[in-house]
Amino acid sequence: MIRIGYGEDIHSLVPGEGLRVLGIPIPFCMRPLAHSDGDFAIHAVADAILGALAMGDIGRLFPDSDPATEGLDSSLILEDVVRRMEERGFHVGNVDVLLVAERPKFSTYIEDMRGNLARMLHCDIPEVSVKAMTEEGLGPVGEGKAMRASCVVLLED
Ligand SMILES: [Zn+2]
Repeated sequence: MIRIGYGEDIHSLVPGEGLRVLGIPIPFCMRPLAHSDGDFAIHAVADAILGALAMGDIGRLFPDSDPATEGLDSSLILEDVVRRMEERGFHVGNVDVLLVAERPKFSTYIEDMRGNLARMLHCDIPEVSVKAMTEEGLGPVGEGKAMRASCVVLLED
């Protein structure tokens, strides 16, 4: 059996350090405003897997009203979601992640991101695609006020 899932996330940006994308720290003057560490790309991947399993979303599993998730390392969210996926007897067939940000340029980090995401998803690097684009100056992302990510994942049993 195969199942497909889609996930998307957006966070507004505030001045400060601490930007992490797919678990990779990236030096930048802005960071996502978030209850957790704000790794919007991990959030999109986790939501895509939960979507494929029809198990709701990370907002339901990790409510931002919960003090225990304050500043939470998002890789722990994904670890929990991957555990739920494997308990259902599924593994990742392939995953495609799109990062959308006006700055900084993610291109030099893409290979590290693929490796880290493959490690977190218990799959091989050729099964992991990470792409990046800008929004050509349009909208809140284009104006540098936010970053977003979307993800499609295929699960196989
Ligand atoms: Zn998020």
